[in-house]
Amino acid sequence: MQFAMLARTFEQIEATNAHYRITALLADLFRLDVADAMILPYLLQGRLGPPYAAPETGLDERRLAQAVAKAAGVGLEEIWRLYQQQGDLGTVAEAVMPVLESLLSVQDVFDRFLEIARVAGPGAYERKITLFENLLVKVGNLEARYLVRIVAGRLRLGIGDATIVDALSIARVGDTSLGPAIERAYSFCSDLGLVAHTLLAQGPAALAEIHPVPGRPVLPALAARLPSATTIVAKLGRVIVEPKYDGVRLQAHKAGERVWLFTRRLEDVSHAFPEVVAAIQGQLRAREAILDGEVVGYDPRTGQLLPFQQTARRRRKHGVAEVAGQFPVRYFLFDVLSLDGVDLTSRPQAERSRQLRQVIVEEPSGVIALTPQLETDQADVLQRFFEEMLRCGLEGVVVKRPDAHYHAGARQYNWVKLKPGSEAAVADTFDLVIVGYERGRGKRAAFGIGSLLCAVYDPDHDRYRTVSRVGSGLPDAEWLTLHQLLDEASTATKPKQVDAAFAPDVWVTPRYLVEVIAGGIMRSPLHTCGKEGREPGYALRFPRIRRLRFDRRPEDATTEAEVVGLYHREETVPRA
Ligand code: AMP
Repeated sequence: MQFAMLARTFEQIEATNAHYRITALLADLFRLDVADAMILPYLLQGRLGPPYAAPETGLDERRLAQAVAKAAGVGLEEIWRLYQQQGDLGTVAEAVMPVLESLLSVQDVFDRFLEIARVAGPGAYERKITLFENLLVKVGNLEARYLVRIVAGRLRLGIGDATIVDALSIARVGDTSLGPAIERAYSFCSDLGLVAHTLLAQGPAALAEIHPVPGRPVLPALAARLPSATTIVAKLGRVIVEPKYDGVRLQAHKAGERVWLFTRRLEDVSHAFPEVVAAIQGQLRAREAILDGEVVGYDPRTGQLLPFQQTARRRRKHGVAEVAGQFPVRYFLFDVLSLDGVDLTSRPQAERSRQLRQVIVEEPSGVIALTPQLETDQADVLQRFFEEMLRCGLEGVVVKRPDAHYHAGARQYNWVKLKPGSEAAVADTFDLVIVGYERGRGKRAAFGIGSLLCAVYDPDHDRYRTVSRVGSGLPDAEWLTLHQLLDEASTATKPKQVDAAFAPDVWVTPRYLVEVIAGGIMRSPLHTCGKEGREPGYALRFPRIRRLRFDRRPEDATTEAEVVGLYHREETVPRA
């Protein structure tokens, strides 16, 4: 397929808000040429690979502007003047490049991006700028718009994974019936390019051949919530109970000498936890494995586990050795997904737990520890364990069905979390996506943010619907940092995936999550969460930010259905 064709489709996608139309446009693209199936999903999301291994071109807007100026034969000052006017370097490139279409293929363009990403060493930036300029002079104006946006990381077509999954199914069978098979394959490899290529080149049956492989993160299983020990035992029967650690979820992969650590956002953070990497090599008796667990910082003087915020400080690129000394961590393992080439995800939880215990060598001062477990079918036993965990300073418990599969990427009742407050039904926490903010007045104006506009996720339509405006709970310094980050993610118009009933001062691309604690849920005409027809939506009552949760993906946010379900539960549960 020619890149010009892709650019025209991008333009059509930008011009519509209709989910079905976007899905249809994407399905048409996928039908065009199977050879492009691998790279199309990456380009549609403005990346050069799957999220955990996407090469970066290393060209920021300043350098891109130089390339655009040279390619168009226009002065750099003129480029910046237009940029001031239009606020987007892609549109500027489009305005200064000639009106024509190139014959370059999507693959040609992709290869050139990779070439730019590979350039390193002295003089690399000059060389990268020249390579990008050489690419720009070959393309027409509309193509230039999107080339620049992709490289600047600002494509932002608002195409979530779920939309690509629907489009792939439609491309192959004309409807969305392949959705579950595509999602299953995707949840095991986190690579939509691989899934698209497997489906379109080899057919639906080949999707079943995609299994977890070390080096490719598996989408982590998530926990649903229930209000009390009694409801949990009533719903699940006999259960395995584990402490709920409040750290950072890490999936550890090993293949021979190589070790990877992936977060819930599918980022490779191996460099940030060198002692965990070393411990995987030392305490794991397997050539190949994929393990699931939570890494938690502790105070080396007292051994006391530290709150999430402290552990999160370890996720950094620089000064790793220094912070590692200050904040040592323990990695609590609670699952094994694959061992020496055998996919264990469809084996029962109890068997996986046993296998995990067989391959880990526990050492008294080892970085890796096994998560303790209790098995019971008695609500009072579960309740006592839960209370004991709270006394130990833990966040609560995670309760697991002994006979359940590892359900990658899904929030199901195979795992249920019980936290304090769940039983009261009036105080609950929500992971919300920031989609905008109000500037604020008085003291708040100094932070740049008065309140955040936050949303839940609606996976069926791959969209974010607002549920709360929240302006309290964070320390002053964090508002300032947040302001900077949100401005980098801001957009001039409402992001396509956002459904809102009013416009905040600034729109923000759905990227960052906050954990919000609320005193309950109410009906509200101001928010779109749960809104149907002329009925009001649902909103949080007395919301306060508990903490920033940048370790999670927007798709992991609390769902619209959860909020609506909780509201109706509150209606039936008497208030304390
Ligand atoms: P939540 O973040 O409240 O949805 O709770 C689910 C999270 O709890 C998981 O993503 C893990 O990061 C964390 N967690 C802590 N301990 C456990 C455990 N024993 N089993 C599963 N998840 C756990």
